[in-house]
Amino acid sequence: MQVTRRGFLKLSGGLSLATFATGLGINMAVAADRGYALKLDGCTKATSICHFCSGGCGLLLYIKDGKLIHLEGDPDNPINEGSLCPKAASLEQVAYSEERPKTPLYRAPGGTEWQEISWDDAIERIAKKAVEVREKTWVKTDEITDAKTGEKKVVPANRAEGIAVIGSAEIDNEESYLLSKFARLIGTPFHEHQARI
Ligand code: SF4
Repeated sequence: MQVTRRGFLKLSGGLSLATFATGLGINMAVAADRGYALKLDGCTKATSICHFCSGGCGLLLYIKDGKLIHLEGDPDNPINEGSLCPKAASLEQVAYSEERPKTPLYRAPGGTEWQEISWDDAIERIAKKAVEVREKTWVKTDEITDAKTGEKKVVPANRAEGIAVIGSAEIDNEESYLLSKFARLIGTPFHEHQARI
């Protein structure tokens, strides 16, 4: 008999629970089924992808009345086969934690306090700052030495050395493409991506 990883985990988990419960005189199979059904009763199930890293693990989300009730690894996803790392297991907190900032925060130069600002205000500040930094750090030419003749010459450079662009595990192919275009448009040679695998 061929045992898959998923099958093995189910089998070994089931055996340990059954052994423990038999000693207490409880039918765990029925209890587990009913508990699971009650918690997820009336939930809509949706598949999704963990946004924390480029691993792209699959998720099953259980939603009731517009609120995430439960999440777990998707056993049918070939990447994680039902498993999740601790970051994804705590994903619910990203949606509902009281600690989560809900608006952009601004701290003035030299200031010690953060203040909440609107998205329009934040975007305008970032755009103005990007233009200012680009102008200040623009390198128009480079002086290079010819490897064969030793002669020095000035060549066009046209790059913004004060700006860097970094991608995210949360962005998809199309967004990465646009980000690359943006990096070249503003002229920065510093273009990196966050990847975990
Ligand atoms: S390894 Fe963890 S953080 Fe990365 S995609 Fe999978 S569950 Fe998410």
